[in-house]
Amino acid sequence: MTAATRPLHAAHGGPGLRVRWHPPDFPLREAAEGVLRESIRELGLSDVVRDVHVHVDLRNRDDHAYIEWNTHDHRAARLSFALGNFVTPARRRAWARTWGRRAGTPPVLPRQFSHKCFAEACLHELYHLRDDHEAGVDLAAHPEEDREALNELWNVWIDGRLNRRGLPAMTRGERHRVFVRTLTHYPRFARRGERIFNALWTADHLGPKELRAFLAEIQSPLDAGTRAKRGGR
Ligand SMILES: [Zn+2]
Repeated sequence: MTAATRPLHAAHGGPGLRVRWHPPDFPLREAAEGVLRESIRELGLSDVVRDVHVHVDLRNRDDHAYIEWNTHDHRAARLSFALGNFVTPARRRAWARTWGRRAGTPPVLPRQFSHKCFAEACLHELYHLRDDHEAGVDLAAHPEEDREALNELWNVWIDGRLNRRGLPAMTRGERHRVFVRTLTHYPRFARRGERIFNALWTADHLGPKELRAFLAEIQSPLDAGTRAKRGGR
């Protein structure tokens, strides 16, 4: 298909997409908005997401990030990023050394912007929305006490796909560390965790049912697992 036959906005997640920033005068806004728009296009969401509200937490220097959207309307999304998402891990460590005991926020300059690190954060967060759009994955449908674990299972699936596509993403080792830290308290994690990590990391198509089933596997009390094992392989 030639460019001329496509709607103009579909080519680059451009004029049809409205992005608002808070704070509006965030110094890295211009560079970051380019990466955000690229990420939306890369994930094929240009015709899905129309309105993005980006909230930057200037007081938080780590790389915490999350996305919120309305279950029944994927056109609008709210992305929240701690300041550390916009710079390299080396810069984050330097901030921790220099600013660890000081109040206030470190000065952040346009030349400190890391295209790669912010792309990693955008792609990961937007993948959550894409999975809901395409496969109906949504944590809001699950009990509060299961959400952190389900989200971490989902994170492994997301970062595995980003890595296979050669896109900026957490490495397998980094993801694995967070996975273990988050889920190690479940009774059957020691026995099933590795297999589940590998299954998620290499999976292309999953859905809410599969994520739920993986959680049930590590959640089930030890005696229930023994019974299941006796029942046949
Ligand atoms: Zn995530």
